[in-house]
This record gives sequence, structure tokens and C-alpha cells, in this order.
Amino acid sequence: MKREIRKYGDPVLREKSHAIAHVDAGIRALATDMIETMKSAEGVGLAAQQIGETRAICVIGLPPDLDQNEAGERLHPHLEMPMVLINPHVTETSKQTGVHEEGCLSFPNIRANITRPVEITIKFTGLDGKNRTEKLRDFAARAVQHEVDHLNGILFIDKMSPAKKFALKRKISTLRAETEEELGITR
Ligand SMILES: [Zn+2]
Repeated sequence: MKREIRKYGDPVLREKSHAIAHVDAGIRALATDMIETMKSAEGVGLAAQQIGETRAICVIGLPPDLDQNEAGERLHPHLEMPMVLINPHVTETSKQTGVHEEGCLSFPNIRANITRPVEITIKFTGLDGKNRTEKLRDFAARAVQHEVDHLNGILFIDKMSPAKKFALKRKISTLRAETEEELGITR
């Protein structure tokens, strides 16, 4: 079932997620909803908070053409998309960082360059309940870092340069005000 995507200004986006103890039918149904919601919004990733849940689960749906090196070779040919990551933890990050433009389904029409480590090691549980470790680089590493941040209540605006955040100030505060009005939140 497609779920409503929560926008910036919804307090759930600042909540930290709780670890999932058992991968049961409820979690599998949640993962299915998240994949459907991500695909229908044409996103490359979605975290639980973005559909109003606070369990530690995110999904990644990287198109093959975004998972390539400059020679056009797949960087992670063994990864099946969409990927479901339960209780994900980034355990290692490279010193080398890269800058790339990011968007977020919770921030329609807002994009910004974000600096992140180029390579990461991620530990997580799959939908089959098995623990996994993956080394990821470039776009896949970036997408996973963005979603794991969501699970910790961290948003990409927190990682923008002060100059970019200043330039986007009006757009960001308008989005927040609109969401708060919709939700009946008064400040
Ligand atoms: Zn996002």
C-alpha cells in the first residue's frame, strides 16, 4: 500500500528510530509499503520516518545507471534492488569525501550539494533476517548514508553548507510553515 510521504515540518522526521527485534510479517508488510511508496514517488531511497514510522528500516532503489563508474561498469553488480536495510549501522567511512547534489522526498523541489565520505561499510539485517555487511562506494554509499541519517533524525539540510542553507532559507521555512499548518501545529 502506498503511504503518504511526510514533509519537512512534520516532527516525526526528527525522531530517532527504534531497533527492530524480529523480522516478522509486520516488518515485511512495512518494507513492501515503503518500496511501493518510494517507487511511486520516483525516489532512490526512503526511510521509515518519511512514512511516519519510527522503526529502524530503510529501502534503497538505485537505478543501474546511477551505480556505475566512469567507464560505465556496475559498481555493485551483486546488489539486488530494491534493497531493504533493517537496523543499519555505518561502521566505517573513508577519509576521502565527495560532493554531489542530493534531493529528498520530504523536501520537494529543494536540492543541494552535500559532502559525504565516498566509501562506507554498512552492517544491517536483510528481510530474510540474516545479518549482512556491505562495502559501498559513490552513489550507493551516498544514498545509504542519507537514509541512515533519516533513521537518526538527521536531515540533509543539517549537512548543507551555511551559504547554501542561507540561500534556501525562504524555501525551507515556507515548506515547514505549510506542513505545520496542515498538521495543525502552532509554534
Ligand atoms: Zn531524504
